[in-house]
Amino acid sequence: MTVPCVRPAIAAMQGYVPGEQPPPGKYIKLNTNENPYPPSPAVRRSIAEVAEHALTRYPDPLATAFRLRAGEVLGVEPDAILCGNGSDDILTIVTRALVGEGDLLRLPYPSYVLYRTLAEIQGAAFEEVAFASDWSLTAAFACAAPRLRLVFLANPNSPSGTVIPPDQVLELAERLPCPLLVDEAYADFADTHCLDLVHQCRKILVSRSLSKSYALAGLRFGFVVAHPDLITQLRKVKDSYNCDALAIAGATAALDDQAWRQENRARILATRQRMETQLRALGLDVVPSQANFVWCTHPVQPLRPVYEQLKASYVLVRYMNYPGWGDGLRISVGTDAQVDACVTLLKAIL
Ligand SMILES: *Cc1c(COP(=O)(O)O)cnc(C)c1O
Repeated sequence: MTVPCVRPAIAAMQGYVPGEQPPPGKYIKLNTNENPYPPSPAVRRSIAEVAEHALTRYPDPLATAFRLRAGEVLGVEPDAILCGNGSDDILTIVTRALVGEGDLLRLPYPSYVLYRTLAEIQGAAFEEVAFASDWSLTAAFACAAPRLRLVFLANPNSPSGTVIPPDQVLELAERLPCPLLVDEAYADFADTHCLDLVHQCRKILVSRSLSKSYALAGLRFGFVVAHPDLITQLRKVKDSYNCDALAIAGATAALDDQAWRQENRARILATRQRMETQLRALGLDVVPSQANFVWCTHPVQPLRPVYEQLKASYVLVRYMNYPGWGDGLRISVGTDAQVDACVTLLKAIL
């Protein structure tokens, strides 16, 4: 159906489809990489306090309390941080600020599908550059191209869970003619990260999310670290109050409790290791993961029926089919019990 007055770029696009969110309780949910454990108790206390006293007023437009705390925890200047309503909001702000109609945005393939959608909203072109078969980047990813304005790199990548090492990310950024946004939604589960590169190269932006490693997907909070001059420009693009008072309070309390994050990370990584071993024993090819999910492919068997059968048994995983690449299952690292239930079903299905 055509609707008059809608911009042609919007009418022509499909729109991003997020992972299924079924009503709570029915499924073992391993499809959208949420943390299986509750967040730090300090988060709820902090939110309750704000709910009692501070809902009447507008929130701080710059989430200064969070930026001061994050600056200390991460070793960056508060003026180098911009906060958003989830890191998806950050990706939107950066794209709107840097990529205009007819410009070009580059993204790796296969990776986070939202990047493509953000280019489409702008009426911009996008160029997908395939990973090599070992999930390293090819030289084409660093090439200059007319009207290239922004390059996205999910690191760790989704769905593979693989990482491009920081020295290679720096080299990539130095060769590119435009900014590089390193999407570190999963970096807290990895061995390395690229935050320090922001100080070495002005073209690098690093985004983070509290959705996965702080178990706060429902709160909606993320941020980007970049040169303060660029942050000043990005501020002009964001909604005035893009982070609400509850989210700012909860996110600040979460960041304050690094002991919780460390302990949670250790649990997730232990389960991830068990899970990789169990899945390999079933004949699946499993890429060693640096995130809170694992990517499984099968040497011969199509995996859609496997996904369907898991779902019929109330275990929800993410099925992906990438043209030219093949299909696979991306399975979030749940609790040990959730993962065991999934593996037991897979054993019966495969
Ligand atoms: C989950 C995810 C995000 C979005 O995180 P939010 O902070 O919840 O918006 C961004 N990038 C990648 C690659 C993700 O998987």
